[in-house]
Amino acid sequence: MSLTTDIKDFALDVGYNHVGITSAESFSDHIDAVQSRGAIYDFYVEDPRQFIKGAHPKKTMPSAKSIISMAWDYSQKAFPDSLLGKIGRIYQARCYNAPPHRINGARYQLILDFLEKLGCEIGRGIIVPERRTAARAGVTTFGMNNFAYAKRTGSFILLSSIVVDKELEYDTPTYEIKCPKECTACMDACPTGAICEPLKLVPRRCIAFNAWWTQDGRPCVTSYIPPEIREKMGTRVHGCDVCQEACPRNSAKLKANLPEDPFLVQLAEEFSLPKMLEMSDHFYEKSVRPIMYNYINDKKYFRRNAAIALGNTGDPDHIPLLNQAMEDPEELVRGYAAWALGRIGGSKARAVLESRLKREDSKFVIAEIKTELAS
Ligand code: SF4
Ligand code: SF4
Repeated sequence: MSLTTDIKDFALDVGYNHVGITSAESFSDHIDAVQSRGAIYDFYVEDPRQFIKGAHPKKTMPSAKSIISMAWDYSQKAFPDSLLGKIGRIYQARCYNAPPHRINGARYQLILDFLEKLGCEIGRGIIVPERRTAARAGVTTFGMNNFAYAKRTGSFILLSSIVVDKELEYDTPTYEIKCPKECTACMDACPTGAICEPLKLVPRRCIAFNAWWTQDGRPCVTSYIPPEIREKMGTRVHGCDVCQEACPRNSAKLKANLPEDPFLVQLAEEFSLPKMLEMSDHFYEKSVRPIMYNYINDKKYFRRNAAIALGNTGDPDHIPLLNQAMEDPEELVRGYAAWALGRIGGSKARAVLESRLKREDSKFVIAEIKTELAS
């Protein structure tokens, strides 16, 4: 057996659903694509993790020869109805950047250990463009919605790549777009029009981007979510699957009768948007961190998103909780609670806003309250 076969067999054995291999040559197509988008990808170019550098694996690791690309189907178990439409499937599946002591991180660790035992040098810390890598390694094709699709699995896949110093056998690239002719279902379904044209996304219009990238201290973005996006977020507090749910290439997976995930069933019993706004330490540890551990670093952003979601329910039963949130020491929470009260509307919500305005000293919150009172 060849080294390539050993590696592929091992990856499949530990649970990856697809594996392919490509060279470690630069992804000049990725760099060209990012550069052609100009300012709309400034946050990506400026990110200290230096994503663009990852498109040139050999600049970081001169001995790099090959990249192993693996896809794991994260939709093998059912997602509770009460969590869908609030939290993206990939987060519920606890797989994205999972730490090595959790099952999905352990799978990745197993393959790293295996490669090291085979004598491979590994390019740790090189963040290659995953979707381009997977297509060049023959693992996925593209969808117009910018997601990668694996054969028989669809787009609910986690892609992982490992750069190694060994010359392996390369798979035939599958750079194709395999969408049915004239399908525009993803673009039609996107609530914000973020997929501006096939294969082009405006990240700042994307709900998923707004839910977690908008944190203070990151390059080129702030914690501010524009009102027109807030309205479209609905009850989604982390991630958005709409353009994948609309896709006919995922319909078999979406219709499949999947076994339940006992961990998620239990978590769903505890989870609620009001509790997310309140965010007790217990709720954070039991219901938030186990599935939403990798992007949002401060509870206040989860609470902001929960306030938006509660406002979008339009349910006046949430006014007492939002009233309480208007007294919160965190201005981000007060500001978005003000927006939520305005979104729910009615005399009770208005009375809360008027009362708080008399005592409010944050310019941001005052502006939010005044906007809602004027509307
Ligand atoms: S994730 Fe949601 S907001 Fe973003 S492009 Fe897809 S449907 Fe639109
Ligand atoms: S919805 Fe249609 S156009 Fe969009 S990714 Fe799926 S198949 Fe392609």
